[in-house]
Amino acid sequence: MELPVLDPAALTASQPTILPAPRRALPVASGVRPSDTLGRPLRDLRISVTDRCNFRCTYCMPAEVFGRDFAFLPRAQVLTFEEIDRLARAFVALGAEKLRITGGEPLVRRDLPALIALLARIRRPDGGSVDLTMTTNGSGLRALARPLRDAGLARLTVSLDSLDPDVFAAMNGVDFPVARVLKGIAAARDAGFAPIKVNTVLKRGVNEDSIVPLVDWAREEGLILRFIEFMDVGHSNGWRLDDVVPAGEIVDRINAVHPIEPLEPAYSGEVAERWGYLDGRGEVGVITSVTRPFCGDCTRARISANGVLYTCLFSVAGHDLRGLLRDGAPDDEVRASIAAIWGVRDDRYSEVRSDATADLRRVEMFAMGG
Ligand code: SAM
Ligand code: SF4
Ligand code: SF4
Repeated sequence: MELPVLDPAALTASQPTILPAPRRALPVASGVRPSDTLGRPLRDLRISVTDRCNFRCTYCMPAEVFGRDFAFLPRAQVLTFEEIDRLARAFVALGAEKLRITGGEPLVRRDLPALIALLARIRRPDGGSVDLTMTTNGSGLRALARPLRDAGLARLTVSLDSLDPDVFAAMNGVDFPVARVLKGIAAARDAGFAPIKVNTVLKRGVNEDSIVPLVDWAREEGLILRFIEFMDVGHSNGWRLDDVVPAGEIVDRINAVHPIEPLEPAYSGEVAERWGYLDGRGEVGVITSVTRPFCGDCTRARISANGVLYTCLFSVAGHDLRGLLRDGAPDDEVRASIAAIWGVRDDRYSEVRSDATADLRRVEMFAMGG
């Protein structure tokens, strides 16, 4: 099957390039698992349910760029729950074992528990269950943790960059009080989510002093904390290498207070490097996209809220799966199209990051699904 050719000029265009998903494919049966050009199977799907967010984190959607006038997707362009369910089923039929709901902020999508209830019914070709999880800023969890749990959400990751009210308010860009996120995490625990993961993006000179307080708190609360190196996702967050707190330094800071040792990955393709506390009180992770890239094991696909398939977090272009669905393509053709796109995948951005890649108009993380 032929794939549309990417115009090099488009790589620096201001809008992401959206290519038509390939048609005329030989239908692909459920259970056939594609590999990309580097031998990586398709294992994880991240589904963005909205490009909107009630936060303006400085590293993701800086308020000065994404202000009142910013044009988010009109409703008609956003995938319906039924379309998301169809695509998720197609990916699971092709080998995806894990579905992560994300955004934007997923909790701002209306009736989200109804979508979770649909996705929780999906089974793998061998009849096994799918790992259904979500990443959220936690702001809406007090109201939604219980309905999400009841709908079948299995696991939860909450992003939280500091326990210090001032640092947190500055980083989320809207003065959102840290206490409300903490109440959301408590509500998630009461609803039965365990263990809960917490993601912290570190920015030099902004929140590295939050590392140790967060570690102490997470150990006390039984949460799995994961520090993320500030990444050059999108093209609006003013990323500079100097702003990255390297994983090695994060590990040293933790180790100085609570000695840790490396742990084996829990599964192939795991994003975080895991470290265990020598006193046996849990683990902590670091996501080392900048200083120790892990593209070799990357098995993740992303669908944006408007149904575009991206095969790398740093993509400049993706394929329009929504068009395929709305044109009436049957399930086996949808699978064939996804398999064809995955089959030519050669992404390894973090391994080739350089001055030459600095000016690429990468799709924003909130738009493609973090
Ligand atoms: N709004 C939800 C949230 O914040 O958890 C989900 C979407 S958000 C894009 C997903 C994850 O990406 C969050 O944990 C966030 O901290 C992380 N993230 C966003 N921009 C980042 C950047 N420039 N570098 C590293 N991580 C980033
Ligand atoms: Fe919103 Fe999440 Fe991006 Fe923060 S990281 S602006 S919460 S999408
Ligand atoms: Fe995967 Fe792209 Fe990140 Fe490499 S840079 S780990 S290919 S998403």
